[in-house]
Amino acid sequence: MSELAERFETHDPGEKQVAEKIRCDACPVMCYIADGRTGACDRYGNVGGRIVRMDPLTILDHAAETGGAVVPFVAEGEEWGGELVNTGRRFVTAIGAGTTYPDYKPAPFIVSQEVEGVDLVTVVTEGIFSYCGVKVKIDTDRHIGDETATVRSEGEAIGHVTTGEYGSQMLSLGGVHHLTGGSKSEGRATCDALLNLCNRKPVELTIDGGATVIVEAGKAPVIDGKVEHRMRVGCGSATIGMFATQWRGLVDEVVVVDDHITGVVSEHQAGKVLGWEDTGIKIIGRRSTPGRYFKVSEPGLGWGGTTISDPLSILGDWNAKKGARPGLSLMMVSTTGEQFAYYELDEQLKPVEKPFPERLQKSVGLIEDNCEPALCTVLFIGGAGGSLRAGVTENPVNLTRSVQGLKTYVTVGGAPVYVWPGGGITLMVDVARVPEGAFGYVPTPALVAPIEFTLRRDDYVRLGGYENEIRSVEDILAKGGEYLNSRRGAGAPAGNPWPPLAQLRRGRASGAE
Ligand code: SF4
Repeated sequence: MSELAERFETHDPGEKQVAEKIRCDACPVMCYIADGRTGACDRYGNVGGRIVRMDPLTILDHAAETGGAVVPFVAEGEEWGGELVNTGRRFVTAIGAGTTYPDYKPAPFIVSQEVEGVDLVTVVTEGIFSYCGVKVKIDTDRHIGDETATVRSEGEAIGHVTTGEYGSQMLSLGGVHHLTGGSKSEGRATCDALLNLCNRKPVELTIDGGATVIVEAGKAPVIDGKVEHRMRVGCGSATIGMFATQWRGLVDEVVVVDDHITGVVSEHQAGKVLGWEDTGIKIIGRRSTPGRYFKVSEPGLGWGGTTISDPLSILGDWNAKKGARPGLSLMMVSTTGEQFAYYELDEQLKPVEKPFPERLQKSVGLIEDNCEPALCTVLFIGGAGGSLRAGVTENPVNLTRSVQGLKTYVTVGGAPVYVWPGGGITLMVDVARVPEGAFGYVPTPALVAPIEFTLRRDDYVRLGGYENEIRSVEDILAKGGEYLNSRRGAGAPAGNPWPPLAQLRRGRASGAE
């Protein structure tokens, strides 16, 4: 018996144990697979003459929520006896379900379950997404590259830097042009990077004219070899607003150095309201409103996401007529509180650095305490408005309307998604909420993602669903499906709501189609 057959010995290969290769139809590559081998994506194999999905079908138990991690309670390869009492809170995910491709047939599993008196149907399939990518949020002030700069993995262009958000740099990676519109190696590198990012593995990205960043969902970014620890408390102006009261009486002037908006407390609206005296300070930058300056420097890896290593470089001459005097005290601090310095003006009104005074330590500590940990966030984005809908209903546009009308609740491996308004089913999901290892690929190249559609049974029948294919959870546990793989039970991660009755009731109340 081959190694693969041993793993699947519960399935009797019988007379179908053949030496010839057999064809896998689960994606357009159509691999011919010899007995005991797997196809190009390793997701399907030939076990005794039958095409088998190599990973187990994952069934989440919401009665056994784990507080985040998914903990299996059936060992890999072991058949689940279905011995647990049905709590009505089991969810058959699409992880390991197999696909509807080439979309002429119903989805691999169409599951019914009565929950709180409501008959629900969940249609479960692994979608093949050529139109997909990830949006990456990197919590850092540091300049990692210009907007629209190319992002590379293994030297290939896989995306670009997009508009920065508050305290975070953003990347837009993947998409159909990089997956299919470039060279073969560009498509392969894009697919590899997306797959690893979605499966929460670290990926090294280089940005043209910018930094090298290691991105791993849920972990701190590593920028040019340095781990980023903190996300800034706010921009320089916001920092002044938050802490001006605490600095009052301890120091004569505070400058919060920031690439976006550098703040000066004596001029800022917050300082004025609190009665801070003028200090005659001069900031070299573009004044926006009092105490708020743009472009004090170029973006970089220094103080507050600027190129600055010496903060005095952004100060002009001090003006005695406007309040500058020998002995005037000045604190300069970055938006994360990681960099700070203290100065006093000498007789020539030049700032001279002095040891950082104890009385100001607390306020710098407060900035640091208010910073959240810097993390990388990866959102998978994909279009499920294509042919996979034909595995759900004979009339695919009905599914789109039902999703848009909130009558169908969409999940990815049990994790809730955001569906974009407008046409199609363009969804986004935080990969940190999806069980690990849920994403796969095919070498077309495209990503494979689990996707589940849940709706009331009567709505499902009305939209042209495959009523005769509906099966109970118990039947699926006992018999599995077309792809003959084992079933794996796992405690659901806490925070992924199930059942989605509240949303389905809202959709019904709205009367939308
Ligand atoms: S790449 Fe994978 S899914 Fe596609 S035909 Fe080959 S084994 Fe089947």
